[in-house]
Amino acid sequence: MRIRSARRPEKKSSKAGSARRRKAVRVRNDLSPYSAKPSLQKVNIDIIAGFLRRYPQKFSTAKLTLLEVADRILAREVQMPRPARLKAHMVFEMLARPSGRVRAGVTGACLEWRGAYKGGFPIVTTVNAQQGNRLNVDARKYILENPARGKRRNFRTIPQNICGNEKCVNPRHIRMVPINPDSHQGENHPRSKFTDKQVVKMVKEYNAGSTAREIARKYDIQLTYVEQIMRKEKRTEATEGLKIRGRFGFR
Ligand SMILES: [Zn+2]
Repeated sequence: MRIRSARRPEKKSSKAGSARRRKAVRVRNDLSPYSAKPSLQKVNIDIIAGFLRRYPQKFSTAKLTLLEVADRILAREVQMPRPARLKAHMVFEMLARPSGRVRAGVTGACLEWRGAYKGGFPIVTTVNAQQGNRLNVDARKYILENPARGKRRNFRTIPQNICGNEKCVNPRHIRMVPINPDSHQGENHPRSKFTDKQVVKMVKEYNAGSTAREIARKYDIQLTYVEQIMRKEKRTEATEGLKIRGRFGFR
């Protein structure tokens, strides 16, 4: 606004200046091909769907978010920006294919994930809104937390396929279950020396000013392990939601 009013005298004084300005405005509007031709949105969304049908693994969902996958396809195929109408869940759906066989105990066919897998489970990449770091999320959990229609949710539980097909990302075939008490993770790991409660105690001492070295000595554990806990790389289920003192403040 301020720029425009500052330029006003120029417009009054010179006809050429005003013509140049009008041209500049038109160029700016033309930056989005969709404002000139709204139907192009659907055309390009169909191009993304077609590409993913043929090459679902070309751009890995283990490295790129769903919208980044769409951006890469558009850049490669048509050199155009992403249509505003395209939402992440639409890209998700493009990466899931019905797998014929209807299984017992569930409604509808399985929708098998054709994107990236890690450890046998379908995964997507998300970007943490606060810290901006990228992380892999189980695609089954992702789609339950980010439904196509309805509110975003947050589960502290793990996804399980009612249909028994672990490639399936059909939200109606997935339920969230409490963390398996028999899992060999965290304090349930056979070699785990410390309970979650003890880990929390270490974090509190660390936050209060103890060094990682002092804690390692006190509890008779490896210094690197203590450092990993404080960086939230190990025993994350014990420290979830806890603020831990870091070199650049609390995380
Ligand atoms: Zn299924």
